[in-house]
Amino acid sequence: MTSLWLDRTEPFSLPVDAEQSWNERGRYDTVVVGGGLTGLVTGLLLARSGQRVAVVEARTLGAVTTGNTTGKVSILQGTRLAEIARRHATHTLRSYVEGNLEGQQWLIRYCHERDIPVGIAPDFTYAQTSSGAESVQAQYAACRAAGLSARLVSDLDIPVPNAGAVTLDDQAYIDPMPVLQALARDILSHGGTVFERRRVTGARSVPKSQVLTTDHGDIRADRVVLATGIPILDRGGFFARLSPERSYAAAFDIPGGAPDAMYLSADQPTRSLRPAADGTKLLVGGNGHEVGRTDSAQGAVDDLISWTTQYFPGTTLTHRWSAQDYSSLDKLPYVGPLVPGQEGILVATGFAKWGMTNAVSAALVLSARILGGHIRWADAFHSWSPHQVFDVTAAAKLNGSVAVHLASGWGGALLGRRTADDPAPSARVIREGLVPVGEHTKDGHTERVCVVCPHLGGVLKWNDAEETWDCPLHGSRFASDGKVLEGPSTHDLRRVT
Ligand SMILES: Cc1cc2nc3c(=O)[nH]c(=O)nc-3n(C[C@H](O)[C@H](O)[C@H](O)COP(=O)(O)OP(=O)(O)OC[C@H]3O[C@@H](n4cnc5c(N)ncnc54)[C@H](O)[C@@H]3O)c2cc1C
Repeated sequence: MTSLWLDRTEPFSLPVDAEQSWNERGRYDTVVVGGGLTGLVTGLLLARSGQRVAVVEARTLGAVTTGNTTGKVSILQGTRLAEIARRHATHTLRSYVEGNLEGQQWLIRYCHERDIPVGIAPDFTYAQTSSGAESVQAQYAACRAAGLSARLVSDLDIPVPNAGAVTLDDQAYIDPMPVLQALARDILSHGGTVFERRRVTGARSVPKSQVLTTDHGDIRADRVVLATGIPILDRGGFFARLSPERSYAAAFDIPGGAPDAMYLSADQPTRSLRPAADGTKLLVGGNGHEVGRTDSAQGAVDDLISWTTQYFPGTTLTHRWSAQDYSSLDKLPYVGPLVPGQEGILVATGFAKWGMTNAVSAALVLSARILGGHIRWADAFHSWSPHQVFDVTAAAKLNGSVAVHLASGWGGALLGRRTADDPAPSARVIREGLVPVGEHTKDGHTERVCVVCPHLGGVLKWNDAEETWDCPLHGSRFASDGKVLEGPSTHDLRRVT
């Protein structure tokens, strides 16, 4: 499954000298781990200020979430503002909105400066049924409390079931890949370095600096920024404060053009719509769930496609894909030190599928923190503020469900039950001694791997849409040959012969 954005005729490649300089540089001011939107904007802000910066990406730029986003650069954000308003004081909500506005404006300005197309359109959060109408009202109230000039509308001009909406004018949408490529080029032109296909596997503090271990040897820096989605280092225990959520998207050619606006349902099942490719395509998203906790990912994709062809007859599917993002316990992003009081390693995560603005806001906060600046709205972007750390009920709920999946995965594996509820007979889990072994057969070739997650020991579940092994605990994912793809794990699965 390849996204509309990653399916390009001319793949972007970094200049060869960036590759060569890996061993030539001794030490960096900052190493940013992760070549998505967060890592590259952070890298550029630091390189522009004269820092010696390296961005280290395990796969290729945008390969994980940024290249698989739906690319709405919106402040409306579904029902997000209402969720924040329910848990936090109005001044925190306002700080969140102010930070996102600054992130949005930074990104749009950057695109304009680089001649990267930006679509501008109203965004709608709409109710599909009368029960969703309450969420729409709450979102409207939160928008007004945050000082946004949102409006209520009773009817939508699109052929899907709807029962009213809240709307905000002049929001934006982008193709993320030209943005990432321009950011990488700009980092290089400011003397920074960007490395692809180098996975960071660990970090240790030595006096006044950090040593990162990678699959290509060590690299040293005064400071490290983990812009890896979920942090790859367990110190700080962010895996226990984040919920990994996977969702699906598809692009369609649409005769007569796509509606010239963005839409997101307030109620379930989630439906997200936006135009793409100058309005010749309709992009549809939704059907999210926690990673590794669905019986059939393929079923979720098929459902999205059949919903689209039902309400937009004549559309032709061109792309389908899926991706995951991380939601924090208390609905605000985590941006700041990995461990309280220690500035050597910083993190940025918890964007809850609103990273097009939040990634840039996080980069602004992190670069100000490193360079010694002050940002007025940064109180909504903390990694360790008291309200985030002590939300005991939410933490118990999140980690309770992790424990249930840990126990049920191992229970199934030890009883010799198949733990993949696979409608596709090509994949199954069998027990060899005490080891659950995943077998996947394709074109007559069988891959066998130990399906115990190297992160914290969850038993992996087969993803029939992407042919991957996914962890229901903290969202690590692996190819069928065991190669780590994303999530907190930094190690591959053990191959079994
Ligand atoms: C289906 C979906 C739709 C979305 N739609 C929207 C939208 O419309 N609007 C919006 O605002 N947001 C949206 N989002 C959210 C947004 O796309 C993300 O929040 C944002 O892209 C996150 O960027 P990032 O740079 O933090 O993470 P990523 O893009 O995931 O980048 C992290 C990078 O770190 C690398 N990495 C990980 N581990 C290592 C390691 N050990 N060593 C080296 N590198 C490593 C990864 O390979 C990856 O490239 C959506 C998310 C999903 C899942």
